[in-house]
This record gives sequence, structure tokens and C-alpha cells, in this order.
Amino acid sequence: MGSNEKAALMLGHRSFVAEVKGPLGGGESAGTAMSDVTNVGKQDEGRRGGPHHVGAQELSKLYSPAKRLQEWVCVILCLGLMAVNGVFLITCFSIAHLPFLFLSIVAGMLVADFASGLVHWGADTWGSVEMPLFGKAFIRPFREHHIDPTAITRHDWIETNGDNCMLTLLPMTVLACSFVTLSAVQLEARHSWNCFVYVLAVFVTLTNQIHKWSHTYHGLPQVVELLQKWHLILPRRHHRIHHVSPHETYFCITTGWLNYPLEFLGFWGTLETLIEKLTGARPRADDLKWACKVK
Ligand SMILES: [Zn+2]
Ligand SMILES: [Zn+2]
Repeated sequence: MGSNEKAALMLGHRSFVAEVKGPLGGGESAGTAMSDVTNVGKQDEGRRGGPHHVGAQELSKLYSPAKRLQEWVCVILCLGLMAVNGVFLITCFSIAHLPFLFLSIVAGMLVADFASGLVHWGADTWGSVEMPLFGKAFIRPFREHHIDPTAITRHDWIETNGDNCMLTLLPMTVLACSFVTLSAVQLEARHSWNCFVYVLAVFVTLTNQIHKWSHTYHGLPQVVELLQKWHLILPRRHHRIHHVSPHETYFCITTGWLNYPLEFLGFWGTLETLIEKLTGARPRADDLKWACKVK
């Protein structure tokens, strides 16, 4: 292993430690974290992750006005469709739907969690920032996040949620169309399915906001802290496992529920081995390249 790779492995650990310590030195296990900082922080100061890392600064500058506009448009359309579909679903609701409603919610949350893992794993592990169009717009934030995990806490609502709003535009549009084109009898027959699609779309939309909360150690609303404590959304302590280099596990970031079975099955590692054998591509090669940037 070369010195750059060693530096990158240490970087992941430091980024996570620096984040736990937080800008004000707080955090729920700051004591442990600070002793870790003492142990690892004396070497390679210039290569430490965070806002001053060379790679993080370069990636941050690639956030363009065109990208910002795309995020604004997606957020406005998605929230509008979410509100319209919510009203339609409430209008169609009857007490007989209640047992299926619970199942639809749990199924929607589970599928959203898996989708978050799949997208996160795909963007972390494959592709590069240099890919035409796609790279700067959609791979860049994942690279930045590993080098500077606190950057997400400085992003506003649009930057945090814009891409996820884009992902759910199609299902939200299809759902809205079904409400205006189908008969009352047809809508009654597919009410549970519509609830499932809606919950899935809502949780996919909120995934990066939930992810941002898992990196936020100060000023979270009490209800968010309770949801994290009850593990109804991604808890902070749980997500830290992903932020230990080389970032190869715990990719699910909506509720994180599926991280346990997927880790037990070695799901992501098996997929990576398969893809590497078929294509020859090395997992996380681009991620490591950005982590190693020193000038
Ligand atoms: Zn990641
Ligand atoms: Zn994270």
C-alpha cells in the first residue's frame, strides 16, 4: 500500500473524528473522539479531511449556477406534486384502509432505505467526477462528503434536497396522473399501492435531509432527535460506521434498518467482486484519488 493510500485510510477516520468533535467541540462521544484526534492528529496535518482539504475545496468550487437552477426547479416541482398527491390520498382515505396503511408505510420506508443504499453505494464506489455532465453534477457531492463530512451541514435546503427531489419527480407525476384519470372504483382498488408509492417517494425525497441531520450535532429540533433515538430515521451513531475509511459499508441512509442484514450477507462486497470481475473496474478508485489530493 502506498503512502497516499495510507493517508486516505487515515483521512476517513479523521474526517469522522473531526465531525464528532464538531466545530464547538461537542457531540455525543466527544471524549472518545478527542482521544482519537490526539492519537492520529499529530501526523500528516496537511492531509486531514475537512473544509481545508485540497480535494474538498476543489470539489466545492465545482458547484455551479446551472446545478443550483436544476435543484431549485426540482424542489419546487417535487414539493408541489407531493402536496397535491397528499391531498388526493387523504380525500380517498377510509377507515377500512387502516391496516394496509401501516403495511404500506413500513414497506415504503424499507424500499426507500434500500434505494438510498443502492444509489449511495453506486455513486461512492463507481464512476468519477470527470464523467461528462453526470460527474460534476451527481458524483461530486459524494466525493466531497467523504473528505469533508461537515460540508453537508453548511448546505441550505435546496442544495441538500435538490437531487433527491429530482429522483422522485417521475413517480410523483405518475401518481398525480392516476388520481385525475382513474375512476373512484379503480382508485379504491389501488389505494394501498398508492400509499406505498407515496411513502416511498416521500422518504426518498427526505433521505439527504435525514442524512444531513445525522451529521448535525447542535440545534436539531427535538422531534428529529427523538426520531433518531427511536431509530425511525438514520441515527448519528449508526451513520458514523460508514464514515470510517474506506467507506465500504452501511450505505443505507434513510432509516439505516437494512444495513444490518446487508452487512450480515456481505451484499455490497459480493456485488463489487462481481462487477470488478466483469469489468475490471476497481471499487472506490475515484474516491481514493480525491482523498489523496494534496495539491
Ligand atoms: Zn458515502
Ligand atoms: Zn454521511
